[in-house]
Amino acid sequence: MKVEQLLRKSLLDIKPYSSARDDYQGSDASIFLDANENPFGELNRYPDPHQRELKQHLSNVKGISEPNIFVGNGSDEIIDLLIRLFCEPEKDCMLQFSPTYGMYQVSAKINNVQLDDIPLNENFQLDWPAIDDYLSNNKSPKITFVCSPNNPSGNTIEDVLTLCNKVSGIVLLDEAYIDFSSKKSLLTELNNTPNLVISQTMSKAWGLAAARVGVCFASEELIQWLNKIKPPYNVSQLNQQAAIKSLKQVESQHVLIQEIIQLREYLHSELLALPYVQKIYPSDANFLLVEVDDATTRYNQLIHESIVVRNRTKLMKNCLRITVGTKLEINELIKAMTTII
Ligand SMILES: *Cc1c(COP(=O)(O)O)cnc(C)c1O
Repeated sequence: MKVEQLLRKSLLDIKPYSSARDDYQGSDASIFLDANENPFGELNRYPDPHQRELKQHLSNVKGISEPNIFVGNGSDEIIDLLIRLFCEPEKDCMLQFSPTYGMYQVSAKINNVQLDDIPLNENFQLDWPAIDDYLSNNKSPKITFVCSPNNPSGNTIEDVLTLCNKVSGIVLLDEAYIDFSSKKSLLTELNNTPNLVISQTMSKAWGLAAARVGVCFASEELIQWLNKIKPPYNVSQLNQQAAIKSLKQVESQHVLIQEIIQLREYLHSELLALPYVQKIYPSDANFLLVEVDDATTRYNQLIHESIVVRNRTKLMKNCLRITVGTKLEINELIKAMTTII
């Protein structure tokens, strides 16, 4: 796959914005009068536009080399940049598998790019006959979104590499929840799979939703293109520092992730005892999709008890999506769910 052949045509001759920190990269200077910054204060300097230190830490933790890493202002920025990089509005199409993460559709709409949808099968896996049918209809989606573990169903999507071989555009594999999964990340397949792009986030397992740090792993060529079109200072200094601090404590992060996984099993077993819980879907993430008798009624009853879960009944009939909280929070939830029987 040649990235250039897939790009939005108007970008081919783009001259990226060159920041003051791009023009001067030496380390000898001690007086900086080149960026119209304020000489006073603590956050007065622009952040590193290339997030070098952060990428070093990501590289160590993830085992992927720095030129294959892009950092965004949350994964939502990465989704948006990829659409803008590859898709011609009103002309190209993209593909997703529902039920899935709502931002793909929102970003598609904002960018005025058609997003086709093929429902997952009854096991929330890729529906191959439907996919083959779609592709044989002369469809060539520029971006195919796969969320695995999938939000809201929680399961891992199988055979993503087969999908990469079938489609001609890129496959954006959204691994936002991968650190909670017992299955392994496809990061190890990046080198053999040129059209595979993997996004992860520090918002979930790394506990940094407030900091907005999304990470994208792809071929060096594709990462270079993302660098050309990104806002120059897309990740703030505060966000970069928060992410670096978290990545330096990788051991304690792993302990917390293990705890969340155990709490997921605890939540699962407690929910099973409730008479109106009809099904709990297996989860590789930090949430459970739970089918109840009447999701909207149960949702409102829980709100009345000051507990907010997510009502997903529009995506999955009568399903609530419940995030794994602390043991105390789970116990409060179960107490409230018992009260409303
Ligand atoms: C929460 C979530 C994200 C995280 O997005 P950020 O912008 O990085 O916070 C990405 N993808 C999915 C599927 C999610 O559920």
